[in-house]
Amino acid sequence: MTALTLDRLTKRFGATTVVDDLSLAVPAGSFLVLLGPSGCGKSTTLRMLAGLEDVTAGRIRVGDRVVVDPAVGVDVPAERRGLGMVFQSYALWPHMTVRQNVGWPLAVAGWSRDARRDRVAEVLADLEIAALADRSPAQLSGGQQQRVAIARTIAPRPDVVLFDEPLSNLDARLRTETRALLGRVHRETGATTVYVTHDQVEALALATHIAVLRDGRLEQLGPPEELLERPATAFVAGFLGSPP
Ligand code: ADP
Ligand code: MG
Repeated sequence: MTALTLDRLTKRFGATTVVDDLSLAVPAGSFLVLLGPSGCGKSTTLRMLAGLEDVTAGRIRVGDRVVVDPAVGVDVPAERRGLGMVFQSYALWPHMTVRQNVGWPLAVAGWSRDARRDRVAEVLADLEIAALADRSPAQLSGGQQQRVAIARTIAPRPDVVLFDEPLSNLDARLRTETRALLGRVHRETGATTVYVTHDQVEALALATHIAVLRDGRLEQLGPPEELLERPATAFVAGFLGSPP
């Protein structure tokens, strides 16, 4: 299990600063929710963690390992950061079956054929999608595709799992069901999780720690109860206090 540390993380696009001197740290096994309104820099932060976006300044540590620090020229490639990411759009490979989708990251990571077969079977069973193993993504509902995307991400047992608004394309019933599933996956894997959402209900249901962002800056970091009982700013109070 791996702690995560952001140290004065900054991202500028041209003259616009979208992540501004963001520092936070959470212990191993945390479920960290980055919460804030649209455009506050949540996805950009996640993409910097994942290695999909260059960092302008600052440092990211996964466990005790620095994975990005432009000041000293450190930029560990995405595939060697021990991270897995689930995208809003699922991004399954359309020409592969469910089994092949979930097995692919294991093949890339050099798992043997036998180990791959066993791990894929285990993950598909865990996520209750074993019966879909030979289907292609086009033959699945949105909720099923999301389960496959989660299975594919956790199959290689990443130290840190990243989710960007994973429920936003699901209807209300599936949202509740998938939210419960994500909570269970977190409890069972113990992986440090970073979860981006603009939805305070999701944040309060899932988080061990919530970081409220506003205009690329950290407003407050703490356990949900602390933010509810002792909001540091009027913005935090307003954002958490008015569920839809
Ligand atoms: P969130 O996920 O919180 O909605 P984003 O991280 O996607 O916010 O975006 C933060 C800000 O950065 C927004 O104003 C967005 O328009 C801007 N932005 C994101 N990506 C780019 C890009 N590639 N070029 C320029 N601006 C960008
Ligand atoms: Mg976003």
